[in-house]
Amino acid sequence: MERTLVLLKPVTLQRGLAGEVIKRFEQKGLKIAGMKMMQLTDEILNEHYSHLADRPFFPGLKLSMTRTPVIALCLEGVGAVDVVRQLAGATNGRKALPGTIRGDLSMSGQQNIVHASDSLESASVELKRFFREEEIFSYEGIAATDYGYADDEL
Ligand code: UDP
Ligand code: MG
Repeated sequence: MERTLVLLKPVTLQRGLAGEVIKRFEQKGLKIAGMKMMQLTDEILNEHYSHLADRPFFPGLKLSMTRTPVIALCLEGVGAVDVVRQLAGATNGRKALPGTIRGDLSMSGQQNIVHASDSLESASVELKRFFREEEIFSYEGIAATDYGYADDEL
């Protein structure tokens, strides 16, 4: 089963939207396999956003990610990486479609509510960056029931 990383950004905690965002993932049927609050450091952000290091907004982005702790989620489901990216919507909240998290909750290209891994490969790297092995849990969720997925989807 696929697992992916989501970070609820500081803006989300400051605006009191953490519950709203987690609710959307839960209602979709994604399983919360890990969840924790953490204060990000310059070190972890340099690694996490290394692909953006030469962009003019990089220092501001890092600062915005340290204003409060973040909530890190490990979400699990069939095709979870793509499903979560679809739920998140386009990077810029002004361009993200209504119905998506960013489209409904953000007007910003930076303060855009969530980070979500963009591929299976980055999900695997990013989950290791934010979670220790024992912080990700296996338990019976919707996939263990007969109404979550068809047999041939699992
Ligand atoms: N970002 C920004 N300005 C931009 C593009 C991106 O501040 O012009 C920030 C934004 O918070 C985004 C993050 O950098 O979520 C990572 O950018 P990426 O291109 O990886 O977008 P994402 O995967 O988050 O949609
Ligand atoms: Mg990205």
